[in-house]
Amino acid sequence: MSISKSHGSGKNNPLLQYVLNHSMREHPVLTKLRLRTMEEPANVMMVACEQAQFMANLAKLIKAKKALEIGVYTGYNTLNIALVLPEDGVLVACDISETYTNIGKPFWKEAGVDKKIDLRLQPALKTLDDLLSDGQADTFDFVFIDADKANYDNYFEKSLQLLRKGGVIAIDNVLWGGAVVNPPADDPDAVAIDKLNKKLHRDTRINLSMLTVGDGLTLAIKL
Ligand code: SAM
Ligand code: CA
Repeated sequence: MSISKSHGSGKNNPLLQYVLNHSMREHPVLTKLRLRTMEEPANVMMVACEQAQFMANLAKLIKAKKALEIGVYTGYNTLNIALVLPEDGVLVACDISETYTNIGKPFWKEAGVDKKIDLRLQPALKTLDDLLSDGQADTFDFVFIDADKANYDNYFEKSLQLLRKGGVIAIDNVLWGGAVVNPPADDPDAVAIDKLNKKLHRDTRINLSMLTVGDGLTLAIKL
C-alpha cells in the first residue's frame, strides 16, 4: 500500500502529502492499528502519524527507557513509543476508557511490545499521584500529554516532577486548531491551552520549543 493512499492527513494538502511520502517509515503493525482506528467515529483524536514518528525518533535520541503517556485512545502512539524503548523499558499508559484502549491491545501484542506497556485505567491525575507516592519522581525520560485539556496544567506540573533532568515532556494540541490566537470565552479548552502556553513561555524550569506539526506540539526539556 502506498503512503499516499494510506495517510488520510495528507488529503487536500499536497505539501503535507509530499512530507508523508518522503519521510514515513511506519511499522506494519502501526499501519494496521491506524487503519483500524480510522474505522472509529472519534478517529480525529489519533495523533498525526508524522508527529508520532518524530516523537519516536526523539525518544530514541534521548535513549528513553521509561516513558509516560497521558491519553491513550486506541494506542497508536503507545505502540509507536513502546517500539523504540529497549526490551527492559516501560511505558506507563494512562486512560479512563476500556473501550478505546481495548482496540489497541491486540496490536501491542502482535508487535511484541505488550510487556513494555503498563496500562492504568483510572483518571490520569490519580496515576501520576500514585507514581509520585511510589518514589518515582525524577525517573521518567519522556512524557506525552494528550488527555483532557482542562487538566493540562496539572498534568504538566506532575509530569515535571516525574521527569529526570534532560527528559522531555511533549504536549499535544497546543494550537487548538488556531483558536489559541484569540481564545473564545466559551471554549474552555482553548482558554486552558492558551493559559498554559503563556505560562510555559515564562517557565525557567524548562527549555522550550513550540512546533507547528499536527495541531501544535510543545517540547519542554527539564533543566
Ligand atoms: N494519544 C492518543 C493517540 O496518540 O492516538 C490520543 C489521545 S485522545 C486525544 C484523549 C484520550 O484521553 C481519550 O482516550 C480519553 O479517554 C482520555 N482521557 C480523557 N480524560 C481523561 C482522564 N481524566 N484521565 C485519563 N485519560 C483521560
Ligand atoms: Ca491530541
